Amino acid sequence: MVYDNTNIFAKILAGELPCNKVGENSVALAFHDIYPAAPVHLIIIPKGSYSSYDDFTAHATDAEIIGFHQLVQQMARLMKLQDEGYRLITNHGKNASQTVAHFHMHLLGGKNLGGLLQEDMHLR
Ligand code: 5GP
Repeated sequence: MVYDNTNIFAKILAGELPCNKVGENSVALAFHDIYPAAPVHLIIIPKGSYSSYDDFTAHATDAEIIGFHQLVQQMARLMKLQDEGYRLITNHGKNASQTVAHFHMHLLGGKNLGGLLQEDMHLR
C-alpha cells in the first residue's frame, strides 16, 4: 500500500486537523477515536509515514517500533485497563476493512469485548 499523505491521520500529525490527544512520545501519538466502539477506544499512530502494519514493521526503525509499542502499553495503563483487560486491533488492507491509510493500533477496553470477530459464529 503506497503512503498517501492526504489521509486523516497525516493531517492530525501535521496539525491541520484537531484530535483529542491522550499521550505521545518522540515517535508516536495517542488520541481518542472519533467514533468509539467501546468505553475506551484510543488510536495510537506512529509519527512517521507508514501506510499499514506491514509497511511499519518492514520499514520503521527499531527505535520507532519499540517506542510505538511502549506508548501503546503506557496508554493501556493510563486508561487503567491492565487488570480487567483490553484488546489491540490493527487492520491491514481491504479484507480487514482498513479505512485510514496511516498505520494505527486500536486500543479497546472498559467492558467485556466478547468474541474475536462479529462473524465468529459463521466460521465454526
Ligand atoms: P480503521 O478502520 O482504518 O482500522 O480505523 C480507522 C478509525 O479511525 C476508525 O475507528 C474511525 O472511527 C477513526 N477515525 C476516522 N476519522 C477520524 C478522525 O477524524 N479523528 C479521529 N480521532 N478518529 C477518526
